[in-house]
Amino acid sequence: MPVLVMKFGGTSVANLDRIRRAAKRVGVEVAKGYDVIVIVSAMSGKTNELVGWVEETSPLFDAREYDAVVSSGENVTAGLMALTLQEMDVPARSWQGWQVPVKTTSAHSSARIEEIPTDNIKAKFDQGMRVAVVAGFQGISPEGRITTLGRGGSDTTAVAFAAAFGAERCDIYTDVDGVYTTDPRITDKARKLDRIAFEEMLELASLGAKVLQTRSVELAMRYKVKLRVLSSFEEQSDTAGTLVCDEDDIMESNVVAGVAHSRDEAKMTLLSVADRPGIAATIFTALSDAGVNVDMIVQNISEEGRTDMTFSCPTDQVARAEKALADIKAKGGLNFAELIADKNVAKVSVVGIGMRSHTGVAAKMFKVLSGEGINIKVITTSEIKISVLIDRKYMELAVQALHDAFELDKAA
Ligand code: ADP
Ligand code: ASP
Ligand code: MG
Repeated sequence: MPVLVMKFGGTSVANLDRIRRAAKRVGVEVAKGYDVIVIVSAMSGKTNELVGWVEETSPLFDAREYDAVVSSGENVTAGLMALTLQEMDVPARSWQGWQVPVKTTSAHSSARIEEIPTDNIKAKFDQGMRVAVVAGFQGISPEGRITTLGRGGSDTTAVAFAAAFGAERCDIYTDVDGVYTTDPRITDKARKLDRIAFEEMLELASLGAKVLQTRSVELAMRYKVKLRVLSSFEEQSDTAGTLVCDEDDIMESNVVAGVAHSRDEAKMTLLSVADRPGIAATIFTALSDAGVNVDMIVQNISEEGRTDMTFSCPTDQVARAEKALADIKAKGGLNFAELIADKNVAKVSVVGIGMRSHTGVAAKMFKVLSGEGINIKVITTSEIKISVLIDRKYMELAVQALHDAFELDKAA
């Protein structure tokens, strides 16, 4: 029988009623003749609560125990979903990641899936089971420890299962009815896209559009998984939601496809470091060894052999970054006058494949921001995106102004 993967995010399994509703959607697909793999998230808010407990217990926690704790939310929903399906007379059972087993790297709290053996679940399908409910977000390391895939990781579990089982489609059920031109929580002018190209979705996700985890889009692109985002709160047809697809499958698109934002950014500036070969390597090796995810980097013009180095990282990694840089300074490995952390910044980005062939997008973006009196602190660009770091208090305003200026509320 053809296999379908259906993933339900936190709000779609937030309570028993919603689990029943989701299970009914699964029942519809089973009745059509699919064997279904259901991937579930934890109930909404649960993972945040678990992370909070870990941080309160141990601020610079052992990541292996963090994973042991935060993976548990998905175990509850997987069992409840299987029970709900059984109550509907749909043959179903649950699997935790290690039981499949979802084999991952040992990079705790941000592990990557390396392999998903299919024989175990396939054998059950052969025996008449119709739904395999799998706890998302979790796996097992080569050392036999429980791992998690990074926040939003159930999306990646879903796409990885779709690839491993050659599923006909991977449906991501969430609290919005598709991928929008920008986060619909920021402007009601956001427009739902019927289709979006993998590359654009990849950029939007990595720049903060959390509707899909970045890694899930990467996997879908690599393994040619038919990926769809749709609402678990509405009745659905086979063409509902947004299809993430190849660029060639989209007829017309705007130069800018979407605007993304990322609220929890920090701008870190090292004042007066030596301007000589090896200094950048020293700084960024220390940060990477400490597990800091550096994003933007700018080096100022130097004066008398000294320069300032600015980088951005997530706000919750500022303490790690400060400690790593203070440690190498104390050991004599790096000399700097001061490290200034600005935790009140946000990143706003415009993304579109059309930028490859159209000029003037950056100029227009900067003009729009200056028109709103918004100062740009750092800029980075790639072939299909432009990102700026700005004061966080202007983030919503910037997104709305850019959405208006690039006329994203109108289809191409
Ligand atoms: P789930 O719990 O189902 O995984 P998430 O909260 O992770 O759901 O992702 C869905 C949310 O992503 C939406 O509620 C929306 O606020 C946000 N979002 C951000 N950018 C976009 C976008 N471009 N299109 C749709 N949703 C977006
Ligand atoms: N529950 C996890 C999180 O909140 C994984 C997910 O929902 O995708 O990050
Ligand atoms: Mg999510």
